[in-house]
Amino acid sequence: MSETIFDKIIRREIPADIVHEDGEILAFRDIAAQAPTHVLFIPRRQIPTLNDLEEGDAPLVGKLVLAATRYAKAQGFSEDGYRLVINCNRHGGQSVYHLHLHLLAGRQMTWPPG
Ligand code: AMP
Repeated sequence: MSETIFDKIIRREIPADIVHEDGEILAFRDIAAQAPTHVLFIPRRQIPTLNDLEEGDAPLVGKLVLAATRYAKAQGFSEDGYRLVINCNRHGGQSVYHLHLHLLAGRQMTWPPG
């Protein structure tokens, strides 16, 4: 399984603006923010894409979503709303092959996405 830049962030080899961490999850600000708030929630464990998830990963995926929703509530924008996105592979627009959940907030989102 090849390393990504996110592994370096997990190991603190490159800097990141970390907003949450626990035993399984790290969350940090996206370097190229697409909204006033743009945070990435990642598992510490290297899982390349959604396609690599297994049955036993269900609690981890739930924890990723809950970490994001908890963050949204704590930051006070949960009522205004936000968007959670996981891109998968080329057509999904994935560029870093370490599973991550985007939390976007602070502006009106549009649909359909580009
Ligand atoms: P995706 O295109 O869904 O794979 O998302 C990858 C995201 O990682 C992009 O939004 C990038 O801006 C973001 N990203 C890449 N390198 C870094 C970094 N060093 N620190 C924070 N975010 C990064």
